[in-house]
Amino acid sequence: MPAIERLAAATRSAPLWSKDDVTVIFVLGGPGAGKGTQCAKIVTDYGFKHLSAGDLLREEQDRPGSEFGEMIKSYIKEGTIVPLEVTIQLLENAMQATREKDNKSLFLIDGFPRKLDQAHAFERTVVPSKFTLFFDCPEDVMLERLLNRGKTSGRADDNIESIKKRFRTFVETSMPVVNEFQTQDRVAKVDATKGADEVYEDVKKTFKEWDIKPITLKFVQTQ
Ligand code: UDP
Ligand code: MG
Repeated sequence: MPAIERLAAATRSAPLWSKDDVTVIFVLGGPGAGKGTQCAKIVTDYGFKHLSAGDLLREEQDRPGSEFGEMIKSYIKEGTIVPLEVTIQLLENAMQATREKDNKSLFLIDGFPRKLDQAHAFERTVVPSKFTLFFDCPEDVMLERLLNRGKTSGRADDNIESIKKRFRTFVETSMPVVNEFQTQDRVAKVDATKGADEVYEDVKKTFKEWDIKPITLKFVQTQ
């Protein structure tokens, strides 16, 4: 049996967790829309665990002995979507590990789901999401950010050829996910054209609307 078929998550018939146990917010937006930057800010203020699907795939790609390394590499370079079984299993493993280690159940899932089949499979087998935070950004702004990032990111897909393919995948394959969630009133759209701090002000407003509260710092009394 090919290794991909031995992956458990996608064959499960009921979600592993309920929405009461685990809170998932999907973070979507085109390449370079600022998902990673905003997620880092959210982690600091709201105590979520940030899981980037792209980062998990790159980690698996570089893991010595991975059966999926070569496959992942070619999908990423072409800007297409890795088969859902692999990405969902990586996410589920990371969520399990976080729950065991940090006892955390708040997750920001960044750059996923990027295709309708992934969205359906994740919500059916892992946990239904609370809502999707969607960073809306025009391509010219994203292109400038990505080319800048490409100078230092070392990412194999931050070059003009891969970027064009990623834009296309985003419009054709990932926007249908946002649109479907929108019909279910499960999308919070934020204008991501402005500077990172201004965008984050809108993120905070959105979180308030969805009743997600910042973590309160506890001061330890020394006397
Ligand atoms: N990717 C994928 N499935 C996912 C998320 C990412 O196949 O669910 C692949 C896809 O090829 C994508 C690449 O990983 O273009 C990089 O994703 P990442 O989120 O790091 O990049 P972004 O486009 O947000 O900068
Ligand atoms: Mg990213």
